[in-house]
Amino acid sequence: MSIFSHPAYDNHEEVAFYHDAKSGLKAIIAVHNTNLGPALGGCRMWPYADDSEALNDVLRLSRGMTYKSAMAGLKLGGGKSVIIGDPRKEKTPELLRAMGDFLNTLGGRYITAEDSGTSVADMKIIAERSKFVSGVISGQEHGGDPSPSTAYGVFVGLKAAVAHRWGRTDLNGLKVSIQGVGNVGFRLGKLLKDAGAELFVTDIFQDNVDRAVNELGATAVSADEIFDLDVDLFAPCALGAILNDDTIGRLKVGAIAGASNNQLAEERHAQVLKDKGILYAPDYVINAGGIIDVYYQQLGLEKGEYDAEQVKAHIETIGTTMQEVFQRADESGETTAHVADRIAEERFGHKDALSNTDSAAA
Ligand code: NAD
Repeated sequence: MSIFSHPAYDNHEEVAFYHDAKSGLKAIIAVHNTNLGPALGGCRMWPYADDSEALNDVLRLSRGMTYKSAMAGLKLGGGKSVIIGDPRKEKTPELLRAMGDFLNTLGGRYITAEDSGTSVADMKIIAERSKFVSGVISGQEHGGDPSPSTAYGVFVGLKAAVAHRWGRTDLNGLKVSIQGVGNVGFRLGKLLKDAGAELFVTDIFQDNVDRAVNELGATAVSADEIFDLDVDLFAPCALGAILNDDTIGRLKVGAIAGASNNQLAEERHAQVLKDKGILYAPDYVINAGGIIDVYYQQLGLEKGEYDAEQVKAHIETIGTTMQEVFQRADESGETTAHVADRIAEERFGHKDALSNTDSAAA
């Protein structure tokens, strides 16, 4: 398996592999870029089919964190870690503590937090061994879980999309479909319902669907039907790669604004959406509420205070960033995804952005 010539390598600063025979831990940490600060990103535990699948995932996710944090105006770089294993069967306190030892080997260049397959409770166990852990703040209503902040950021960004697409500031009667009413999707649904939107939801877990129907008055639809609905806006809050050749052709919405990471199956799908007249809120811009929260939790651990109002105010900047992306895309004729990438690269000093700056100065 090649690392330096890997398609997702993209100039990563460091990729570290770790095996702890005693606990069975097999993990990878990828540090994409630390120009703006230490790399912060979640620790995913997943039963990857093989090492190369795990490597591909960690490299793609780590790069995404550089862009997300730069776009959110945080003094953070991008990194991510993966533990190879089934979180329901193979996660033990010994394995998590060994993950803490692994973190220590990077001396703070990478800080971890929750992700798919890991929880606040897991982070607390990792933190027994390592101080390079965030998302574990105590004494706060959310107990360290970034999901409420992610949902709030998506809500703010969604309103910016509605304002840009339809020139309105209220959400009364707006029809919104949500794919996945888990931690983020359900909370987003609550915010939307309270703002007067009409909801259509799907989830592979029936109890999640029932909760949305009973508590949010949502209409339940099947997992496949969600793409064919005659609604205004689609909020993907379940999986990646769901904006693809099959689904985009079926969508009747005017805008897409949701929490899922890596929503576009391929980069070219941003252009397919644009050609269809669908306004796309780039995923890593709109779903940055969680990393913003985790950043302040980390600062809080260092300085002894976490100011919930400051966190909320920072999350609300997602709205203005989104407006800037939409405006620049209108002016330049580029896709919103491309504009977002360029702004992020200007901020973290990507080699292409730097050479553009150099030639502009020359
Ligand atoms: P979650 O696991 O709590 O919720 C996801 C929900 O989607 C689950 O209820 C699951 O049953 C459902 N689902 C899975 N496949 C589905 C399908 N094919 N059709 C319909 N429903 C399906 O996860 P979450 O924390 O709510 O995160 C949702 C998305 O947002 C993920 O893509 C995640 O990577 C992204 N995200 C989350 C955060 C955060 O703070 N939690 C931050 C940034 C991005």
